[in-house]
Amino acid sequence: MGKVAFIGAGPGAADLITLRGARLLARADVVLHDALTDPALRELAPRAQWIHVGKRGFCDSTGQAAINALIVRHGREHGLVVRLKGGDPSVFGRLEEELQACAEAGLEVEVVPGVTAALAAAADTLRPLTRRGSGRSVSLTTAMTRTGDLHASRSADTEVFYMAGKQLGPLSRRLREAGWDPATPVSVVSRAGWPDQLHSDHTLDTLAQASLLHAGRPTVVVVGAGARAVDAARAPVASASAACREGIAPDQGLGQTLKP
Ligand code: SAH
Repeated sequence: MGKVAFIGAGPGAADLITLRGARLLARADVVLHDALTDPALRELAPRAQWIHVGKRGFCDSTGQAAINALIVRHGREHGLVVRLKGGDPSVFGRLEEELQACAEAGLEVEVVPGVTAALAAAADTLRPLTRRGSGRSVSLTTAMTRTGDLHASRSADTEVFYMAGKQLGPLSRRLREAGWDPATPVSVVSRAGWPDQLHSDHTLDTLAQASLLHAGRPTVVVVGAGARAVDAARAPVASASAACREGIAPDQGLGQTLKP
């Protein structure tokens, strides 16, 4: 009886996986993976058998049952099975179903976190998701419900929508109906974490215009406080940020400027 490690691969580019994830991958006998966006991930587990269980044929509930069965079968037959997932396994990754299947089969499990798309988008656009004063809460949301309806409300200062790239018009409408100001800033980022990431800025009422630019690419939509560009004119103490850039501890740098 082996162990199953659920590893977050990050938003796609191989170098955004964690060291812990890469080290476990190197020891894997079998890797069950979603669509691999960066083939370089394969080099991290050269001796493993790689099995694609992503989307096509596996996306409905029957498909999920088939994935669970594969995880359990390989978990019983091998020492270390890796279930490699995009982003973080616990964010819209069907982790619950797969953990349940392992628990029922009595398999040992481990979960290794990964960089979720919202964080990669914040990094790419240099926009902190939380802001002192104005952005005290962040929600990771999927607008799509099980029945295929679009559901959107106002639950946090910053809302990051996953799986909404094809629904930007309806999303904009729903959010305005839910009480968001039409002038609320919205930042749309596709293929975050990749060299070819694309980013566009909108307000809620012009959000639908982003559809063409990001069509066919994995996209997150950041709404509210975390979507605002950082205002250079409102930067804190200039000498402190300069000191940070130079690699000097801020108080050390400031101390020097205070010397007569
Ligand atoms: N577990 C993943 C999310 C899986 S759901 C995570 O933590 O990131 C799939 C959705 O994630 C996509 O529809 C898209 O909204 C988002 N996504 C995944 N990778 C992305 C990327 N590189 N850039 C932007 N959005 C991404």
